[in-house]
Amino acid sequence: MSDHRKLGRELGLFDTDPLIGAGLPYWLPDGATVRHTLEEYIRAAERRAGYRHVYSPVLGKRELYELSGHWQHYSDDMFPPMDLGAEQVVLRPSLCPHHAVIYRSRGHSYRELPLRVAELGGMYRSELSGVLGGLTRVRAIQLNDAHIFCTLDQVAEEAGAALEMIRRAYGALGITPARYRLSLPGPGGKYVAGEGMWRRSAALLTDVLDRSGLSYEAVEGEAAFYGPKIDVQVADGAGRESTLSTVQVDFHQPERFDLHYIGPDGARHRPVMVHRSIIGSVERALAQLIEEHGGAFPAWLAPTQLVVLPISESELAGAQELVRRCGERGLRAKLTAPDHGTLPARVRASRLVPYQAVLGPRELANGHVSLRLRDGRRLAPLPADEALTRIESLVRAHTTDLWDAA
Ligand SMILES: [Zn+2]
Repeated sequence: MSDHRKLGRELGLFDTDPLIGAGLPYWLPDGATVRHTLEEYIRAAERRAGYRHVYSPVLGKRELYELSGHWQHYSDDMFPPMDLGAEQVVLRPSLCPHHAVIYRSRGHSYRELPLRVAELGGMYRSELSGVLGGLTRVRAIQLNDAHIFCTLDQVAEEAGAALEMIRRAYGALGITPARYRLSLPGPGGKYVAGEGMWRRSAALLTDVLDRSGLSYEAVEGEAAFYGPKIDVQVADGAGRESTLSTVQVDFHQPERFDLHYIGPDGARHRPVMVHRSIIGSVERALAQLIEEHGGAFPAWLAPTQLVVLPISESELAGAQELVRRCGERGLRAKLTAPDHGTLPARVRASRLVPYQAVLGPRELANGHVSLRLRDGRRLAPLPADEALTRIESLVRAHTTDLWDAA
């Protein structure tokens, strides 16, 4: 596995500048393309699973975080508050409080549950500059987050479905989890009180893990301050583990925000909040993707999916036309003209691009292309439209396969 910081710079994906500040990376066009594609994949998966998306501001009043408990239990990781006249606002350390307020803003019947609220939103962590590096420790985080408000009876199914979404996403992204972890509170940590609540959430998550058939380890001292969680751990090139995805069961926030729904009996009941993230922070997910694939992203995610290589200047116009047709189909294609070097040199320079379409006089005359795949396979010439249709369907299927046997 390669170092994502080095590769990210070499491939023109992201960078940092001391003038912007440590832990505040910016995205270059190719990196932004990958990020946008990843975010859209997640949103589409969430829409299919019945989530509704919201937007909420990255700032909130200090009182919001006092109510949620972040102020008391999490302030070491928060930026200092900003004084605005008589009030103080803070850069949010999580999206949960905003989503709890959004839930509370409307009355809810049991018929609406489970209510799944999702957002890809910004949050901030006051990391010390000594520990910052690349995309894995950053101060500005784009979080793939969601909160499911549901009845106690629905928790296991919702948490199980979230775990299944995580497994499916890892398949599409080609990410291999290092292990599944049941993260429990440990001695001496900053946790909210309520022994019965902790026991109930831990029992629910254990049940979800046992039913999923995944092997996991229970580890003390890794829980969130408000509840235990399932963490999906990944390893970087140096073997260091970090958490990418989580599923959490929370009885605490619904209590603090006095959330309720009207049950079939006409009375007020307390919902449970399931917090879940499929890919965690977009920054960390991309660091993992860059390292696992060494920059050779799955075709659906690659910044350039197809490079067109005309053999000589005579095929240049035909090559431009092919790039245009790719664009019409929503495929990301680019042309590398003969003035960029010999054909073998241009093939080598495009080694991370999933598909290379070589265009010579014979291909041009027949309306064909000769495809080379990134893994070294060379396909017999085939009609250009057929080649593009097959690439398009592979991209739409979000597969890590470069070609199918059809
Ligand atoms: Zn949350």
